Amino acid sequence: MTPSPYVSRINQIDAAQLDTEIYKVLRNQAREIARYGAPGKIDKWQAEVDAVLKFFIWKFSLQRGSSTFGQRLLNLHYANINHRKSVLHLILSVLPQYLKDKLAHENLSERGAFAQVLKSLVDWTTNAINLLELVNLLFFLHRGVQPRVIEFLLGLSSQSITTHRPRIIGYSYMTRELLWHGLMELFTIGIPMINFHYLKHAAMRLWRRPEPSSGLFPVMNATTKCAYCYEDPILPSHAGCEHLFCYYCLQAHFTAMSAFHCPTCDAELRAEDMKRYTVASAPRSDDEESDDSFEKVDDG
Ligand SMILES: [Zn+2]
Ligand SMILES: [Zn+2]
Repeated sequence: MTPSPYVSRINQIDAAQLDTEIYKVLRNQAREIARYGAPGKIDKWQAEVDAVLKFFIWKFSLQRGSSTFGQRLLNLHYANINHRKSVLHLILSVLPQYLKDKLAHENLSERGAFAQVLKSLVDWTTNAINLLELVNLLFFLHRGVQPRVIEFLLGLSSQSITTHRPRIIGYSYMTRELLWHGLMELFTIGIPMINFHYLKHAAMRLWRRPEPSSGLFPVMNATTKCAYCYEDPILPSHAGCEHLFCYYCLQAHFTAMSAFHCPTCDAELRAEDMKRYTVASAPRSDDEESDDSFEKVDDG
């Protein structure tokens, strides 16, 4: 059977995409090598390194045969390529990017007017190429050939090496990927919704035997610990029982739900009763005369 002239659009786009990816992989490897070198030494030559990489990719693909690596992976090749076209392909894919990178890293103000003109020219050309790529893409979607501008300029068109057959795609990887993404999304959305304070507290209540509250106003001394985290209370606060909490320990519970049980005495604490503990607000135990300066203390 003769090779079919028809190549599906998706194969052609994939081939172009694979070429880009192959180049990126090599480029990242090259960067990885330079990573531990002195900063700025290799970066200066990044444009050259990229150009050399592209040259080698070209040397082992288009120069030797009639297809890029991406095309080869998808059993495609250029039907009407010759040596001249393949050299032009190399020049067109390397030179514009090289000039652009080179000029982007130069300090142009020292180079005089010529460099400035060159830079504006390159900028203009880059914009033109981008526009051309967009137009070319639209044409490609319509006609189904030449997804890349270079191919259009050189008049290259892809052809299938093997006979035309539908793409056989294993969807298992895709399904796995989708599953993972779904799971990740579930976790990132779901986990913040779980009330860990409540769960932790509920678990702790199973183990701890509550001491009945004496209903006294909390008094803080050197040995007072937060009833929740058993550390020295930070910004001591209380909410109705005789125990003191860190501000955060208490507020975190009340942010999650309006009521919770004191882990020590099991009294039900409510968000609206929450107060910061101050020494002035504590009743003096030595004199019993009513001191109304503190807010409601022993209502219940
Ligand atoms: Zn605490
Ligand atoms: Zn308590």
